Amino acid sequence: MHQSTLAQLSTALESNQISSEELTTLYLDRCKQFNGSLNCFITINEELALDQAKSADQQRAAGNASPLTGIPIAQKDIFCTNGIKTSCGSKMLDNFIAPYDATVIEKMNAAGIVNIGKTNMDEFAMGSSNETSFYGAVKNPWDQDTVPGGSSGGSASAVAARLSPAATGTDTGGSIRQPASLCGITGLKPTYGRVSRYGMIAFASSLDQGGPMTQTAEDAALMMNVIAGFDERDSTSAEHPVDDYTARLNDSIEGLKIGLPKEYFGEGLDSNIAKIVEAGIKELEKLGATCKEIELPNTELSIPAYYVVAPAECSSNLSRFDSVRFGHRCENPKDLSDLYCRSRGEGFGKEVKRRIMIGAYVLSAGYYDAYYLKAQKIRHLIRDDFQNALKDVDVIAGPTATGTAFKLNEMIDDPVSMYLSDLYTVSVNLAGLPAISVPAGFVNNLPVGLQLIGNYFEESRLLNIAHRFQQATDHHKAIPEGFE
Ligand code: GLN
Repeated sequence: MHQSTLAQLSTALESNQISSEELTTLYLDRCKQFNGSLNCFITINEELALDQAKSADQQRAAGNASPLTGIPIAQKDIFCTNGIKTSCGSKMLDNFIAPYDATVIEKMNAAGIVNIGKTNMDEFAMGSSNETSFYGAVKNPWDQDTVPGGSSGGSASAVAARLSPAATGTDTGGSIRQPASLCGITGLKPTYGRVSRYGMIAFASSLDQGGPMTQTAEDAALMMNVIAGFDERDSTSAEHPVDDYTARLNDSIEGLKIGLPKEYFGEGLDSNIAKIVEAGIKELEKLGATCKEIELPNTELSIPAYYVVAPAECSSNLSRFDSVRFGHRCENPKDLSDLYCRSRGEGFGKEVKRRIMIGAYVLSAGYYDAYYLKAQKIRHLIRDDFQNALKDVDVIAGPTATGTAFKLNEMIDDPVSMYLSDLYTVSVNLAGLPAISVPAGFVNNLPVGLQLIGNYFEESRLLNIAHRFQQATDHHKAIPEGFE
């Protein structure tokens, strides 16, 4: 049963093949069995999950079920969950019990979804390897000497190892798509503003976006049907009509125009990855799509612009952690300044401190124009590049990540190399576009993702293309050895 997709589990529950309580127990047992080695969960919600499962069974029996009622789903530990520890991967919030639910959690609860646990992540979502977590690194189930990617590495590893049939993630510069690529699962980063950020702990507010991490595009569509939509509590939430994301999954992709950015297939891309991505694109051509080369001329500026904008916003967002009302507090502070300095010094890890310092620097009076303002201008150029390209093509295809999963500790002391590995993902966030990563094959037994980028609010189209691709291929069905 644990190999099943959300769609299959929904059918199994609907036809009474299994109850939610049985299903939840099955996944809880797997979490307990494997979390010691993989470290995907910071918290496993055993009691809550079983209570929710029992009510889901009653809801179903009463005929009030929606498609995902009674199915366990794991939540990235960046989403506030009422009464449950919400750590954001940080010592700063190790003692924080959220007093309310994020909108995403509220919507999932209303749909009768079982919250099986809170997944491990890079501290405050800053990282590409999950090694910056206060709770230790997460292992990639495909090779436990390698990283699962980040920052949503716990979610990606849990779904790949089938400890949870699906999970939530958040993506500020690639944190849904890159771990999805490295763990061989499907990850959708929706359009900025499509999924509410209320109660989702902020990293870089103009870039952050929550979304589904699943085995298949069909499952991502089922989750989007629950979590997407306008939220008046999030001032940047989009007041745009919400699709039924499952409605167009089976549409033909005959005549689809795909743009291949020449900047994505040049230097910097491992040739083995290129082969897999090209084979994936051939598969789409067999389904009736046509390809053409396009240009995204400012691609090389996306990493420098992102690593100015994201730290600037993080330095401002993280100033709220002053240890006064919540969060880590140092022992016996002498005075207010000592309280701030020591509490923040002890509560934040190295990468978070590096980002806060970069952010404070680029926002400082003397350097604002040279860095922050310049980065904002580049951001406009990048958005315009995408808009120009999307006049001629329907979607853009390319790699999700520059390589496969790398070894644990390989890049931890080399932040610049780690930042460069975000080459194909960060520009999408700078532009606010939706993008999906789908499993496209393997290099040395490690998964490789194909990325599809669409125009604003075209999640349905991306899910449709990804679904057709998954009907024609089997890469997404592979399960790592030992977790079958
Ligand atoms: N790897 C990128 C960073 O470290 C993106 C993180 C994210 O999307 N949350 O900032």
